[in-house]
Amino acid sequence: MKLISIKTTLLLTIVCTMSACNNSTNSTIDQTGAAYTSAYVCPMHCEGSGSNSAGICPTCEMDYVKNNQKEK
Ligand SMILES: [Zn+2]
Repeated sequence: MKLISIKTTLLLTIVCTMSACNNSTNSTIDQTGAAYTSAYVCPMHCEGSGSNSAGICPTCEMDYVKNNQKEK
């Protein structure tokens, strides 16, 4: 009984630590710029990327991908 309790506590601690880590990662990424909000965006979301038409990223030269978040 005591062993189960320790395992559960350990598991909860791991889950809490992981979710806390994910939250802090998400909050540090600014997704409001043109690299995220344009109709076509760089897969890497490079600074200065993003366009209203298909093309390539001027920073990393990857093909722009259609921004699914735009279609709402
Ligand atoms: Zn890029």
